[in-house]
Amino acid sequence: MAFEDIFPKPLKDCFDNITKIPTYGERGASRFLYNFLKLSKEERLKVVKSLYDLAQTVFPCRECFLLSDSEVCRICSDPKRSKKFICVVEESQDAYAIERLERYRGVYHVLGGRIAPLEGISPQDLTVDALLSRIETYKAKEIIIATNPNAEGEATANYLIKLLGQRFPKLKVTRISYGLQFGTLLEFADELSLEKSFENRK
Ligand SMILES: [Zn+2]
Repeated sequence: MAFEDIFPKPLKDCFDNITKIPTYGERGASRFLYNFLKLSKEERLKVVKSLYDLAQTVFPCRECFLLSDSEVCRICSDPKRSKKFICVVEESQDAYAIERLERYRGVYHVLGGRIAPLEGISPQDLTVDALLSRIETYKAKEIIIATNPNAEGEATANYLIKLLGQRFPKLKVTRISYGLQFGTLLEFADELSLEKSFENRK
């Protein structure tokens, strides 16, 4: 019997679909699927139902691109948050790491990635144009760049600092992550280091 005949078709379909998720290779799909299949049928269906709801309802906020289950996210629609302060992050999970500190009262801007020439990701692939127009619309006072402290995050930060300096010479542009260990992803940074890094932004 050929391998294809013993491998369940629904499992193959799942592998095909999950490996389409960026960075989710064969290994990631395998880890998820075989452990998922160890659950009871009831538990499996709960996972599926929550993923279904996620797929149907969670999309980037129209303004800041933070993941949201409404057209405009809770942060952008909160009148207590100042739109004069925009904290620029690579992904939504980086904004959540900063939110956990419960100190920042401005808004975010999610780039949707970082500049990575080797992977063919250039500034045009990120939400940089939307950032520029938000700075104009809100007459922003400070842009806090909170890209990750690694080579690509640094390259992205340097690109933005230069671009913003040219476009808005009077705008204050600061950078956090000084003090965070190089290579630590913001998402997984411990709260104390992240808080220090945020307060000591330069
Ligand atoms: Zn938003």
